[in-house]
Amino acid sequence: MNSHYLSTQYINGETILVGLLGSDIRLSRSLPIHNSAFHELNLNWAYLPLNVNPKSDSIQDAVNGLRALGFSGANITMPYKESVIPFLDELTPAAQRIGAVNTILVTADKRLVGGNSDTGGFLEDLKSKGIKWNDRPVLLLGAGGAARAVAYGLAETGCGPITIYNRTTERATKLATELQKFFPEQPIQVLDRLHSGNIASNALIINGTPVGMKGIYAPSGEDYLWPSSLSFQKSQVVVDLIYAPLETSLLKKAGFDGATTINGLGMLVQQAALSFSWWTGQDAPIDTMTAAAKGIAL
Ligand code: NAP
Repeated sequence: MNSHYLSTQYINGETILVGLLGSDIRLSRSLPIHNSAFHELNLNWAYLPLNVNPKSDSIQDAVNGLRALGFSGANITMPYKESVIPFLDELTPAAQRIGAVNTILVTADKRLVGGNSDTGGFLEDLKSKGIKWNDRPVLLLGAGGAARAVAYGLAETGCGPITIYNRTTERATKLATELQKFFPEQPIQVLDRLHSGNIASNALIINGTPVGMKGIYAPSGEDYLWPSSLSFQKSQVVVDLIYAPLETSLLKKAGFDGATTINGLGMLVQQAALSFSWWTGQDAPIDTMTAAAKGIAL
């Protein structure tokens, strides 16, 4: 998809390099999103796939490689958003609070600065779709890097009570404890099991796990995390951070029941736009990036 953006016609000895560090990034849409934006603005930059095998234990080497090879930055994706932190020189205040990094900037003096554009990307996408979350109760599925970014963004901007459910309860408890430190007034609870009632009592339901992507299943063996007896309400907003497929089983069911559904594509583009601006200092061409994310050449 859009591989022509990376043709050698556009790469030479002066090309500035950024890339995506992750464990399974063959189908990532960040590649066409960023390369189409560089192309659109006539920037001699290229965004490369930087696959790091999770079994190889080499994320530290990979991060040091950014510095050694003169990269200007990188995005970080599953499963390294938290584990990359010890190998960075500095974190932005937001990344420090969130405890997860999705963007690295390599400064002129070769310092690696970790930031997080997932929070801004998530909130910007909700805003652009007219979704209001102030004082509304939130159920968050997951406690990894993306879920952390979402939880901090919602708490910081004044959502209602937050309920967190994660396969590994200890990880959800850790997130809740850290969140509570920054937002002492924020009601937060952790569930060790997910019941229909937990879904019914929340206005905003967010899947921040990969369950629903091809071949990724919940511990129940299903490709969704909620109890099978569940139905959604028309007043609810259901967000799945997954963007491949665009309609997961969660969104299909929620949409069928009349809830408002949002997939992860808008967030993907918005977080990419924030990373792009951080690296290049330029406004991101959102329309071009959106078209590239959808696989359409403008
Ligand atoms: P991560 O840091 O590795 O966290 C993964 C989370 O999902 C953890 O809470 C993990 O639970 C849970 N999980 C993983 N496999 C599971 C399974 N089979 N059953 C139940 N729970 C499972 O990953 P991440 O970076 O947060 O990404 C999570 C999802 O968000 C991915 O689908 C990613 O594509 C999506 N995402 C989308 C955007 C966007 O812009 N749209 C941005 C970031 C992420 P445990 O703690 O039990 O392991």
